[in-house]
Amino acid sequence: PEGITVQELANRMAEKGADLVKALFKMGMMVTVNQTIDQDTAELLVTEFGHNIQRVSDADVEIDTEADVDAPETLKARPPVVTIMGHVDHGKTSLLDALRGTDVATGEAGGITQHIGAYQVKTKGGDLLTFLDTPGHEAFSEMRARGANVTDIVVLVVAADDGLMPQTIEAINHTKAAGVPMIVAINKCDKPEANPQKVRERLLEHEVIVEDMGGETQDVEVSALKRTGLDDLIEKIMLQAELMELKANPDRAAEGTVIEAKLDKGRGPVATILVKRGTLKVGDVFVVGEHSGKVRAMVNDKGQNVKEAGPSMPVEVLGLGGVPLAGDLLSVVENEARAREVATYRQEQATKKRTTAAPTSFENMFSALN
Ligand code: GDP
Ligand code: MG
Repeated sequence: PEGITVQELANRMAEKGADLVKALFKMGMMVTVNQTIDQDTAELLVTEFGHNIQRVSDADVEIDTEADVDAPETLKARPPVVTIMGHVDHGKTSLLDALRGTDVATGEAGGITQHIGAYQVKTKGGDLLTFLDTPGHEAFSEMRARGANVTDIVVLVVAADDGLMPQTIEAINHTKAAGVPMIVAINKCDKPEANPQKVRERLLEHEVIVEDMGGETQDVEVSALKRTGLDDLIEKIMLQAELMELKANPDRAAEGTVIEAKLDKGRGPVATILVKRGTLKVGDVFVVGEHSGKVRAMVNDKGQNVKEAGPSMPVEVLGLGGVPLAGDLLSVVENEARAREVATYRQEQATKKRTTAAPTSFENMFSALN
């Protein structure tokens, strides 16, 4: 009695009758447009098409970076992106500073460094490595939670005098969960009470088996203070990177991840972008999170203005329409109209999410009271 013909329903939904018939067929029902379907089936169809309509408009507006795969022949080697993790006071910051000091390009640049959340080191051999300047597993897991897996390799710092501590173990777990290879830097080896062997043994308990113990994890004894073992560490990182065959297409519209972002009094919204693929150029129009923008200027980790940034290179970008979140993706698009369209769409989606989230929680609250 409470039925509706397929054609009637199609008319009300502003869809083709044939499309409804097709959908019904997929649901296991063989009907024609003139046949009547019951209320439940009609509702099912509406939601089905509702979702589809949503998806169609998503595809129209949203940028589908996953579907946009680069052809193998376009891929070129890119520098590894390294995150340093470990227990507080085990020397993460000291090691980051020491590694930065090994950069042969800094001399050329006049030695002035700028903290933009990531930096690049050029080795004596001419290889480039990118280090994320925000140590700690919080930044790492926060980025991961937002879907941004920027780290290729984790360097786990363990102080040789202190040994494995709670945050060391947390860092091990985060790294394993992310499926990222790890290199252990046993730090503070300059100290008389340093016991690197004990560190290796304790690591076994957490299934981190270093090469000396018959495993595959590389380890290296360093002193961030005395700056020893650093070349060895860099060499091991490069070795690991080679095994991973890290590649990206540099010759395409750029895509990158926000490492950090802020509102700068003089310069407006600025974000450090780690380029994933393509080459970001001054003048490029982009969307980043819910904001659109146009690259006005780019500054590298040495405080120099640059015109271009290729894969794995971190740059501070000026010319954003707003402050994005760490982990947001930046995508270069064809023109400003397109950038605004995507940004507006994302803002709308975010607003929708916020407004629909409230009633659901109310419902949950009431059902919990019943
Ligand atoms: P973080 O909390 O992991 O970033 O650790 P820091 O880099 O701030 O270092 C904590 C303390 O350990 C500081 O007083 C450093 O000077 C000291 N330290 C770091 N590396 C070494 C090292 O290789 N040898 C010695 N003796 N001290 C170190
Ligand atoms: Mg620190």
